Order: sequence, then structure tokens, then C-alpha cells
Amino acid sequence: MTRVQAARTQVAIIGSGPSGLLLAQMLDRAGIASVVLERRSRDYVLGRVRAGVIEQGSVEILRRAGVAERMLREGLRHEGVEIAADERRYRIDFGVASASLTVYGQTELTKDLMEARDASGGSPQFEAEDVALIGVDTTKPRVIYGREGVRHALDCDFIAGCDGFHGVSRQSIPAGVLKTHERVYPFGWLGVLADTPPISRELVYASHERGFALCSMRSAARSRCYVQCDLDADVAQWSDERFWDELAARLPAELASRVVRAPTIEKSVAPLRSFVAEPLRYGRLFLAGDAAHIVPPTGAKGLNLAIRDVDQLAAALVAHYAEGRDGLLDEYSASALRRIWRAERFSAWLTSVLHRFPERTSFDRGMQLAELENLTSSTAARTAFVEAYTGLLP
Ligand SMILES: Cc1cc2nc3c(=O)[nH]c(=O)nc-3n(C[C@H](O)[C@H](O)[C@H](O)COP(=O)(O)OP(=O)(O)OC[C@H]3O[C@@H](n4cnc5c(N)ncnc54)[C@H](O)[C@@H]3O)c2cc1C
Repeated sequence: MTRVQAARTQVAIIGSGPSGLLLAQMLDRAGIASVVLERRSRDYVLGRVRAGVIEQGSVEILRRAGVAERMLREGLRHEGVEIAADERRYRIDFGVASASLTVYGQTELTKDLMEARDASGGSPQFEAEDVALIGVDTTKPRVIYGREGVRHALDCDFIAGCDGFHGVSRQSIPAGVLKTHERVYPFGWLGVLADTPPISRELVYASHERGFALCSMRSAARSRCYVQCDLDADVAQWSDERFWDELAARLPAELASRVVRAPTIEKSVAPLRSFVAEPLRYGRLFLAGDAAHIVPPTGAKGLNLAIRDVDQLAAALVAHYAEGRDGLLDEYSASALRRIWRAERFSAWLTSVLHRFPERTSFDRGMQLAELENLTSSTAARTAFVEAYTGLLP
């Protein structure tokens, strides 16, 4: 690669996950130019199966961004959630805080966001190799990358690091500046996608002596289910039959009887991690989404946090360009981190209540069950749960 092609934009966005695509969409609607650089291929990005629970506040942000039409039409609106512990069942009604959630796959949301980019003529630059951020602590940052045998230099005003946990953006903040906070859990989730009807209209979280399980869905005919597994679990050792057996064993008998076994379409193991980086700004570089934080999937906060980060960052960039105000950019890191830590708290708490930890004693199990009893017997506890779970708090 000898030739260098130079280009300029206002905001260079690294990563075309939900964060990067949504940021590009919001900036575009405000007349701000951006270029999205993505390491993977379009098919890979569109094929990823991940989150699926969209908070009410996220729905509103996506609606404002003009990408919620299909979600509002096809998404499943939920007004409660069920938590089971052995044979006990607790339903938590979101009505206690007048809230709701929408179940809509991240895969579908990514498709909607990608179509909006294509329609605007701002499709991501896929298969961008060796992306490197240069001069982020100056007023003239630049992104260098390779693509289709050509070396590219993209000059910009700002860089948005939307490249997930393993991306290059966070690593571009000097070690002496970046602080990270992390908890790695001693187990993972084995997840499957299958064309089989969900066992219930709402999500069912199960806390069981054998470990945690979750029955979620993507539609009335497609289920997304998980069981807690060892960190080193090998998908090859988990036949479909073994998965459905284990899921049923962790559910109350009546719910287990509703499991309709079907061949799985996707099966994968995800580790569980709580992680926060700070600051979220270094010079002209801003981190958003999984590049900045990770939550364990219990509580379904990852995608929603990313959407909130992007909403906040887009507003700050619009204030900069449209009104010459930099206050929101200056406040971005501190204010986003306050919101992020609250979501980390809830996700870590729910993880601790529902999972089987290796060293768990009978006292620990008693505490878990008491937490669940408290949720059903105390209106205050239930309201606090619903506020956190549905993302009602700003
Ligand atoms: C297996 C799995 C299951 C999940 N399940 C849930 C769930 O059930 N509920 C929930 O709420 N959340 C879940 N999450 C989390 C949720 O999917 C994420 O929070 C969400 O994807 C964050 O979006 P993002 O755009 O910030 O990051 P990502 O979706 O990770 O996107 C980052 C993008 O940046 C690209 N990239 C990385 N490095 C570079 C580079 N050097 N150059 C250019 N591009 C780069 C990546 O290819 C990727 O496309 C799950 C995550 C995983 C991994």
C-alpha cells in the first residue's frame, strides 16, 4: 500500500455497531458530516445476534432519530417481567411506575440503522484495516486506515470511539490518563436462538440451584434463551437436546412444560463482565457504548446505555456546531459516567441475585430468595426495580 488518499469530515466515527450507526444518523439529521469506519464486513455486522430489550427512553431516542418506524410496528411491547426461583414465581408489573419495554432484536435495529445510512449516502466504510487515531489531543485529529489496498488519511474535528470493548479508540487514551474499573464473573451465558414460540408473553428470569436461565424472545415465533454455563463451556459439547433439557430443569415445572424444543439457529457462549472506563473524553476523542463500558447482560442495559451515550454525545456535538457552545462536550464524560455507574449498579445487583456463584453458601441462597421476596412484598422495592429495569431515570 503506497498511495495515500486524503479526505476530511467533521466527525470520524470508529465502529458501525448500534452506537456508531445511530451517531451518524443523528449528526446527519443535524447537518453534520461524518464518516463511519468499520473493521468487519457489512454481512458480519448485519448478522450479529445480540441484545433485544429496548427501554422506553431508548425507543423515544430512536423515534427522534427517525429510525423507529419498523420497531414501533413489529416490536413486542412488554408491561411486566417474571422472575422464578425454583418453583416460586414472581411477576413484576411495570404499571407500578407507568413504564413499558419493547422487545426488538439488535439485529433488526442494526438493519434499520444501516438502511438509514444507505439512504443518506453515508454507508460505513467496511473492512477498514489497521485503524489508528493520530493527534487526538490536538485540534487536528486524523484517522489513518487501509482499505482495498489503499492507505487513507481522514482529517476531522472530532473522533467518536464507538468501536466496542475490543476497539482501538479506548486504547488510544494514554495509560496515565485512562482508568478502568472491572469485575469479571466466574461464569458465562450459553445463548441460543430458535424458531419456537416463547414459553411466556414476557421475559422469564430463573434463579435455580443448577444456575441461572433466561427465556426471552424476538417475536411470537422466535425464542432467545440462555443458561448460565462455565466460562470455558464448549458449544460443541452442547447439543440442542442438552440445551433444552438444561433450560427446562431450571424452570418451574409449569413453565418447563411449555418449552417447545426446536433446532437452534445460533448458539454461542458470552462471558459476563462489568467494566467502566474513565474519562470518556481525551482531547478530541469521545468514547460511547461498549468502548466505554460493559455490563453483564442480566438487566439488558448494554444496548440501552449505548443509545443514551450517543444521544448525549450527538446533542453536545450539535451544540458545538450549531451554536458554538462547548459546555455539553465538556460535561459529557462526567455526566455520562454518573448514568453509567447507576446502570452498572443495577446490572451487577441483578446478576448477584439470580446467578449461582461457585462459592455460594446456603446463607447466600437465603439472601437471594429474600431479595426476590422483598421485590414482591414491597411496593417501594418494586418501584425502584421497575425504574431501573425499564430505564425510567434520566
Ligand atoms: C454476545 C453478546 C450478547 C449480548 N447480549 C446482550 C443482551 O442480551 N442485552 C443487552 O442489553 N446487551 C447485550 N449485549 C451488549 C450489546 O449488544 C452491546 O452493548 C451493544 O452492541 C453496544 O453497541 P456498540 O455499538 O457500542 O458496540 P458494538 O456493537 O460492539 O460495535 C462496535 C463496532 O466496532 C467495530 N470495531 C471494533 N474495533 C474496530 C476497529 N479497530 N476499527 C474499526 N471498527 C472496529 C466492531 O466490528 C463493531 O462493529 C451483548 C453483547 C454481546 C457481545
